[in-house]
Amino acid sequence: MKQSIIAGISALLLAVFLPMALLSPVDAAQPERATLVWTQDGAAAAEPEPEPEVVQEPEAAADPGWDAAETVALETEDGVVTLPLSEYLTGVVLSEMPASFSEAALEAQTVAARTFTLKQQTAGKHPGADLCADSSCCQAWTSREALETKLGDGFAAYWDKASQAVSATDGLVLTYGGDLIDAVYFSCSGGTTEDAVAVWGGDVPYLQTVESPGEEISGKFETTVTVPLAEFRQILQTADPQVWLAGSPSSWFGDQVETDGGGVDTLEIGGRVFRGTELRTLFGLNSAKFTVEATAEAVVFTVSGYGHRVGMSQYGAEAMARAGADFEEILLHYYTGVTLEFLGAD
Ligand SMILES: [Zn+2]
Repeated sequence: MKQSIIAGISALLLAVFLPMALLSPVDAAQPERATLVWTQDGAAAAEPEPEPEVVQEPEAAADPGWDAAETVALETEDGVVTLPLSEYLTGVVLSEMPASFSEAALEAQTVAARTFTLKQQTAGKHPGADLCADSSCCQAWTSREALETKLGDGFAAYWDKASQAVSATDGLVLTYGGDLIDAVYFSCSGGTTEDAVAVWGGDVPYLQTVESPGEEISGKFETTVTVPLAEFRQILQTADPQVWLAGSPSSWFGDQVETDGGGVDTLEIGGRVFRGTELRTLFGLNSAKFTVEATAEAVVFTVSGYGHRVGMSQYGAEAMARAGADFEEILLHYYTGVTLEFLGAD
């Protein structure tokens, strides 16, 4: 099964990606991507001169791919919009990840987004639609028209680049035990991702903590939030009236329990125990991985990463891509023990 999938993927990449890689103006920063495709296939490598009829093969042009035949019913501010999965995913990739990211990172993002989308189609979260365009609920999406306005002169190159990531991974999803996974992702982990159980309370075998090096390229790798003492006191006492904050601010903080991913599981403040995720929400922290320090004037949080830190780190994916990893290596790193599967016919 897997061998035939890989063979299928290689053939697909050769048929679809190579001509596009040769044509794309924005792919110039990633010349090794095309090289990788060549070296994956010995037969192709032995034929340095591509046959013109292969490039212009009518059958390849006539087959738009698996994604193009699937539709997504999307709940937007303007009502439910139905569009091809391929077009939807292009709009997701350009909303969820900087288009300046490497091709392999965009491809990994596409597979995660495709898997997430198809999983949502069976979840029944939105009556009359498969999922919505709100990143805090499902995943971000921007229409082609809105992107044209937003990106201006850069639109064509970015749309082309994201479309290539979609077609290069056409029909590919992640499964665990034969089922689609919850392919959650986030911006930056701060160096280590988090177990799902530490954030949402249920253990998920493929959402386990892993190292995520190289994320210093993110501007949100480390941030600080300074909360004046009066505001800190008011926020906590509103959340829990039994919090007792008297005396020196440094004496307010008690035991801290860490998660396996280095986040704050629980922290005792003013005699009450708060969850790290709760403190993240209360004080608007970028993540629940933080240290806290009290001065005479304020409480200072030093926060690592941005997001829930479960699943694939987008900046970690970009760091892996820059180090030469392909999209499959990125996905298999962040989602423990999963399988990359092609949903089309073998
Ligand atoms: Zn939603």
